[in-house]
Amino acid sequence: MTRSFTPRVEAALWSLSTALGYFLLAALSLYATKGADNIAAVWPPSGYFLSLLLLMPAHARAASFGAMAAASLGANMWGGNTALTSAAFTLANACEAYVAMWLIRRREPGELSFMVPRSVANFCVAAISASILSASIATLFVGLGLAGRSIDFFLSWLTTVSLGMLIVTPPIVMLARLVTSKALDNASMAMKGEALAILTAAAALTAVSFSQSYFPTTFLPAIAVVAAAYRLGPFGAATGMLIVTVITAFLTGQGEGPMASIDGNQRAKILFLQFYLLVLLFTSLPLAALLVVQRRLAKRLEQSNQRLLQAEAAAHVGHWRVDLIRWTIQWSDQTYRVHGLEPGTPVGVDYSVKQYVEEDAEAVRAILAAAVQTGEPFQFQGRIRRTDGEIRHVKSHGSIEMGRGGRAVGIFGTVQDVTETVENARILEAARSAAERVANTDMLTGMPNRRHTLAFLEKALAGAREHGAPLAVAIFDIDHFKRINDTFGHAVGDNVIRRVAQRAKAALREEDLVGRVGGEEFVCIFQRSSAQAAEMLAERIRKTIEIDEARPDGLPEVTISVGLAIYDGEPDVEELLHRADQALYAAKRDGRNRMRKAA
Ligand code: GH3
Ligand code: MG
Ligand code: MG
Repeated sequence: MTRSFTPRVEAALWSLSTALGYFLLAALSLYATKGADNIAAVWPPSGYFLSLLLLMPAHARAASFGAMAAASLGANMWGGNTALTSAAFTLANACEAYVAMWLIRRREPGELSFMVPRSVANFCVAAISASILSASIATLFVGLGLAGRSIDFFLSWLTTVSLGMLIVTPPIVMLARLVTSKALDNASMAMKGEALAILTAAAALTAVSFSQSYFPTTFLPAIAVVAAAYRLGPFGAATGMLIVTVITAFLTGQGEGPMASIDGNQRAKILFLQFYLLVLLFTSLPLAALLVVQRRLAKRLEQSNQRLLQAEAAAHVGHWRVDLIRWTIQWSDQTYRVHGLEPGTPVGVDYSVKQYVEEDAEAVRAILAAAVQTGEPFQFQGRIRRTDGEIRHVKSHGSIEMGRGGRAVGIFGTVQDVTETVENARILEAARSAAERVANTDMLTGMPNRRHTLAFLEKALAGAREHGAPLAVAIFDIDHFKRINDTFGHAVGDNVIRRVAQRAKAALREEDLVGRVGGEEFVCIFQRSSAQAAEMLAERIRKTIEIDEARPDGLPEVTISVGLAIYDGEPDVEELLHRADQALYAAKRDGRNRMRKAA
């Protein structure tokens, strides 16, 4: 508020505020307590000066202490004290203000906040410690003349001054902060109206309660202050306290109200009032600060919950929790979306499991039951049938919540719609297997090609070696095929190759494999067949091709020569094939259209 002034002018303004306010409050307090044994319940100048010290810039403090000293001296002497006593009291109050400020600055290097319970406690400790100091100084100076009543004087000073700081400083500091931070301008009219109504009610209730002594209705102001703390926060609590203090101190000082009618001397009445105010203060201020903390936490919780829901929506992952004690389930908004339901629709545990298609529901149930039993984390994937009938694949991960005694009390899980992933994986798998088929198939005959046939033989050989099972390989080649091509053309030649492949396949058993390994050359693999059986099969192929009664029109007759090799511990496929090849060569050499077995 004084930012645009030069430091000197600023210091002068703070000093002026200090001097005027201090003198006015001191004079008022002295005047108000006149006729009441000169005992005040509260000494507001202490609180006023401390609040200014906390608000003013450091360079204005020295001048303000001077202003305070002048005001204090003036007010004390105007109130009837001697110059020496006035000087002593002024010194005591100045030391007290300095120590309070120093203690607060040391514990709260930043701005002192009445919104934080720890800061409120630090402020109270500083105010009370400083009051003990000023009470000690004042008592030391005047104690000798009090003839044995110095303890009384000490206690009276202590309570009066500490109440002055505890009650007056918070509302002034908070009001100044509200004004400078523009929070007051930002507050809605409704809020301002409510604040005004509550504080006016506090004033009215206090005035009514303390201007009569028929009923000891001291609890009424307490209700108003607690209401102010609850609705308006620390500022409401502090301002409510200030209002109650001003009214009760004034009326009690004037001999009115329930405290004034206590059967005892003025000192006892004032002490009781101070006790009343202290109790009210230590109830409302911490309560208000705690409420602020709690509301801030609630807001933060709400925000992080909101962020969680946004993250879930963005990541398409929902969460759910089963309460095993109450047998209820909670779904997050995204979980509802995964299930195609409006968020908030009531759902039950059994309903949630029944969402899975019949084949998957049982597995889900079993996985959850096992997880509850073992306490281990779990995951499952299954299909759910949404209300619109659509089937979606969902994946859940979760863990078990253990209660006291190691008993499962809840299941927490996430759920994700993985339909697209599953669908993509299916398409990918189909493409992969189609590609594999193409890579392994001979395009002319649709039979296993060379690559596949040799790989198959490799495996068969390994199996035979490992288990000692019999294995045989036959190679066959069409006889004089060049002539076919030359006589009938290449296209007919192709058809002949195709026909030979069909016939050979038909002659073999389900478990045998025949593949095209070259132009018109084929390899047959007989697994778990004895030498005789293999020989019989090889011969059967040769005959099937030689005698082809169902041969399509226009296809020339052909024969094949076959070379057979029975596995005999060959170290690799090449050697076994080489032997079969040798046998084939022998068959060709011996006149073709025959089968020869390798030695
Ligand atoms: P042999 O009885 O000694 O086996 O005599 P052959 O004439 O059959 O001799 P060989 O097996 O060496 O001849 C293979 C011929 O097959 C050579 C090539 O012109 C022909 N051929 C290879 N692949 C194909 C094909 O895919 N289609 C056609 N139509 N002919 C092919
Ligand atoms: Mg050939
Ligand atoms: Mg040939």
